[in-house]
Formats: sequence, structure tokens, C-alpha cells
Amino acid sequence: MSVVRNVAIIGAGISGLAALKCSLEAGLEATCFEKSDSIGGLWNYTECAEEGRASIYRSVCTNACKEMMCYPDFPIPDEFPNYMHNSWFLNYLRLYVKHFDLARYIKFKTAVVRVQKCPDFQVTGRWEVITEHDGERSSDIFDSVLICTGHHVYPNLPLNSFLGIERFTGRYMHNREYKEPLQYAGKRVLVVGLGNTGADISVELSHTAQKVWLSTRSGSWIMSRVWDNGYPWDMVYLTRYHFFLNKILPRAISDYLYERMMNKRFSHENYGLVPVDKGLRKEPVFNDDLAACITCGTVVVKPNIREFTETSAIFEDGSIAENVDVVIFATGYSFAYPFIDDSIMKNSNNKVSLYKGVFPPKLEKPTLAVIGLLQSLGSIPSTSDVQARWALRVLKGICKLPPKESMLQELNEEETEKKSWFGQSETLSTDYITYMDELSSSIGCKANLPLLCVTDPRLAWEMFFGPCSPYQFRLTGPGKWEGARNSILNQWNRIIQAMKKREVSSHTGLSSFTALFKLLFIPLLLFAVFLAWN
Ligand code: FAD
Ligand code: NAP
Repeated sequence: MSVVRNVAIIGAGISGLAALKCSLEAGLEATCFEKSDSIGGLWNYTECAEEGRASIYRSVCTNACKEMMCYPDFPIPDEFPNYMHNSWFLNYLRLYVKHFDLARYIKFKTAVVRVQKCPDFQVTGRWEVITEHDGERSSDIFDSVLICTGHHVYPNLPLNSFLGIERFTGRYMHNREYKEPLQYAGKRVLVVGLGNTGADISVELSHTAQKVWLSTRSGSWIMSRVWDNGYPWDMVYLTRYHFFLNKILPRAISDYLYERMMNKRFSHENYGLVPVDKGLRKEPVFNDDLAACITCGTVVVKPNIREFTETSAIFEDGSIAENVDVVIFATGYSFAYPFIDDSIMKNSNNKVSLYKGVFPPKLEKPTLAVIGLLQSLGSIPSTSDVQARWALRVLKGICKLPPKESMLQELNEEETEKKSWFGQSETLSTDYITYMDELSSSIGCKANLPLLCVTDPRLAWEMFFGPCSPYQFRLTGPGKWEGARNSILNQWNRIIQAMKKREVSSHTGLSSFTALFKLLFIPLLLFAVFLAWN
């Protein structure tokens, strides 16, 4: 394989910035093309949706907390809140760019319009990247390309599924166009789709609209950002301990425990929210207010829509939402790579065939990769960081991909497995810890937990029972960050510091029963981990 010296990175959102930083770290000449005039991608809020770029509403906050939503070698500053408004998170991205001096490698207002194989691709693996800046086109040759263009860009507006929508005389739109609630004050609004967006918008509208209906075809589990003992949900739930239990328990028991956890705050059945397939690990909705709105009657949950009339929506149970002014379809997104030939990569039914969610398996030379497409309960910054580090090692020939046939076979097997956990429509989803461990093993940066139990038991304890925070993937091996150990040991303090702005008497976070339980079972569990690890 010829030597890879330079790389083109498309997009300067979370994933593009991670790819850029890791490319420089790997000693490559890197050029990042960003079609807008700023960094941040989706987190760069604009008053109007821009063609080909993600668009968020004004109030969006992160649903991963600051200790999970950071890059693994750049913690979010102490003064930032645990869950951040989009403007705070954009500020964090700006700090990252400044700290690693990334801005000078980014060409703003430069859209990549075409990526094509060079005539000598079979030998060199090189790409011609055609860009457009101020209406002028130019072409450059790169040894490798990292595509970081996001996947919440193109609206999924399945109007064909909604009988009679063409005769509906009110306004209807995809949530991409929704920015803030003021213009809906006093209106009767129907929100379609119970994902995170549908829940957020319904709650937000409930304060000013005359009436809000929320229609869901398959229900959803609703989690709260504020979880056990008031800690962030992901600090409590995304742990190796939970992951381990999930792995060893029979599916029926783990489904039962999952359901019980989801129903702890309120019964989803009583609120009409319970998912059709309760055991699927589809992404839950993170919303602290939806249940309150339902119980106060300011949001009314309805089943799927059977048909629209001129002014109403008739639901599958025969009930009717009358005199609807606006329908907001919060029905998700699809993604596309309009600048690349379909024979290389194509989205078909919201699926694309990529080995480890990164490499098109049929390419003759593995010199093109996608960063940030896979979804998991973990956050995008850490996933993109690990994906970029692994991809760069493959580009540089340090890591090898399996033969094409093996990759295709693995992809097929994975798809069946994923369907059973995440459902038909969520094949881009993956289990965070399994995936991160897989890639970090390939990089050689997966921490050796059994060994740590002996050499650094305090750290091992926190890594197993505490959150599987991004720092774990920069603790050792290539790309090791010296601050990782300290960041892991201090993560709970930082969480408390971010919210406790008034001195009160001290109190230990863990209940004594939980502490006792962990103390009794630790030797047994560590032994089992040791066995599973080897
Ligand atoms: P994007 O942020 O979409 O960035 C892509 C960049 O590529 C953009 O700047 C775009 O201008 C540029 N670009 C695109 N095409 C071209 C081209 N042809 N040429 C040049 N430049 C191009 N994830 C989390 O982890 N935590 C959260 O809390 C969270 N909240 C979310 C909230 C909402 C409302 C939504 C919709 C998603 C959320 N996500 C969250 C997922 C979200 O997709 C990621 O947080 C993240 O923004 C993805 O980053 P990215 O860099 O991959 O893509
Ligand atoms: P989403 O998660 O894809 O949810 C789309 C919803 O629309 C689903 O409930 C789906 O139902 C429904 N739907 C799709 N097609 C439909 C059809 N034909 N008929 C009826 N219902 C249909 O989209 P999203 O809510 O916009 O979220 C996208 C991503 O952004 C997620 O990763 C989410 O976490 C993130 N996000 C985060 C925040 C935050 O707070 N940080 C806020 C918003 C979004 P089914 O379940 O039946 O398929």
C-alpha cells in the first residue's frame, strides 16, 4: 500500500473536529473543508434552517452530561453545567479548536461537491476532491478522505404514510423548520413522532399553545436527565457493571430489569407511552417534563394517525383531534452523501454498509472512511474520537482490515444481531461499550481492567462501577492522555460542582445498602470480569 501523507476531512462539526485533531496527532497533513462559515455543525444554531446542514430549535440541550459529552482528552470546563444548552456546547467546541490550534487547517465556506477515485486509484488509493468556494470550483488530490458530514441533516417526512394529508388545509412541516414556540401561541398543534425531538417540542409548546396532541405509532421509554439520587442518567446507567450484567444475564431477565428500571419513575402504561416492543433497546427519550405535562393535561398522547381531513386528524383508535392549526412531523432524519458515487456508498432505507460503521467494505483500497455515523447511547465526541484514531491507523497501514468477504459476512451477522436488540429501523445503532472496546482493542488503547485491579484498584473500581466515561479510552496505549486517570477519579466531584452553587451540609452520595452490596459482591464480580475478559 502506498504511504498516506495527507487527508481531506469533510465537515467541521463534532466528528470533523475530532478527525482533524487526530489526523494532526497522527502526523498527517490535514485539510478540513466546511461549507458553512463556522465550526460546530448541528450545534451552531441558526435562526433559519440551511440547505444541507442540520438545524436545531433554540432550546436544545445536550442529553449526555458533561463528563460523557466531552472529547476523551479535553474535559468540559468546571463552570459549564452538567447538561448544556447548545450555545454552551458550541463554546466548548470553540475551546477545543483553540486549545489544539485547529482553525488554521479549516477552509470555511468551502463545500465539497465531488469526491472521486483518481485514475490510478487501484495503485495509489488516492481521491480527487472537488470543492466550491464563492462560486469557484477547485480540485485537489488527497491520499485519504474522512467524511464527517453528520446524519441529522435531511428530514424524513413520510407523507405517503399519512392518508389525506393533501386535503389538510392547516400548516404542516418537519421539525427542522421549528425554532421556537412563540409563533404557535394560542394554536392547536399536533406533533407526530415520539423521539427526543417530538417530546421536547410538545413540552415546549404546552406552555403557550391552546392544545397539544402528541401522536406515537410505537411508544417509547422516557428517561430523565436527572436519574438515581439526582445524578445524570448516563453517569449512573452507562457503566461497565451494568453492561456486564446485561451480557451475562439471560435476555428475558435483562429485559425484565430494563423494563423495571424504565417504569421506576412512572408507569409507562398508565401514561399511554409504553413501547410496542418493550425489550428493544431503541434510544429512549430523555425528557424530565413530559410526564408532568401529560398528568397536567397540557400534552395529550395519541396513537398513530389513521387519516387527515381538511381540519382534523383521525387516530387509529377512532378519536379525533379537531381544528388542528399546525402539524409538526418530528419523524426523524435520513442521511446522504451527494458528493460520492452510489457504487461506493449509498444510503438505502436509512442503512449504509460500512465495516465497523466506518469503512465501505468493497473499496479496493481502504483510504476513505466515515466518522460519526453510528449511533449509541454514548455521546458522539468520544465515539468519533475513537473511530478517527482507528481509521487513521488503518489508513496508515498500522491496522489491517479483514478480507472483503469476511467484512461482508460480519456485517450480515451484525445486522441480524442488531435487529434483535434495536429493531428494524435502528440498524445504525450499536452498543456503546462493546463498540468502543472493540475499536480501542484494535488501536491498542483498551485498558487492562484485571491488571488495574492489582496495580491501581481505586481506578479499576471507578472504571467498573462508575460511568464508562470517554477518558477510559485515552488512559493507555497510543494516544494516551496524561490527565485521563485524574479525570476519571474526579468525575463525580465535577458533576456536583456544576450544580451545587450553594454551600449545604455534606452528605455521602451512595446509600449504605448499595455500598454494602458492592463491597460484598466485588471479589466475585472482579473474578467474573477476569474470566469474561480473557
Ligand atoms: P454535524 O454536526 O451535522 O456536522 C457536519 C458538518 O459537516 C456541518 O458543519 C456541515 O456544514 C458540514 N458539511 C456537510 N456537508 C458538507 C460538504 N459537502 N462540504 C463541506 N462541509 C460539509 N449527540 C450527542 O452525542 N449528544 C447530544 O446531546 C445530542 N443531541 C442532539 C440534539 C439534536 C436536536 C439532534 C438532531 C442530534 C443530537 N445529537 C446528539 C446527535 C448529533 O448528530 C451529534 O451531536 C453531532 O452533532 C454530530 O456531529 P457531526 O460532526 O457528525 O455532524
Ligand atoms: P427519531 O429519534 O428518529 O424519532 C422519530 C420518531 O418519529 C420516532 O418516534 C418514529 O417512530 C416516528 N416516525 C418516523 N416515521 C414515522 C411514520 N411514518 N409514522 C409515524 N411515526 C413515525 O428523531 P428525533 O427525535 O428527531 O431524534 C434524532 C436524534 O437527535 C436522536 O439521536 C436524538 O437523541 C437526538 N436529539 C437529541 C435531543 C437532545 O435533547 N439533546 C433532542 C432532540 C433530538 P418509531 O419509533 O415507531 O420508528
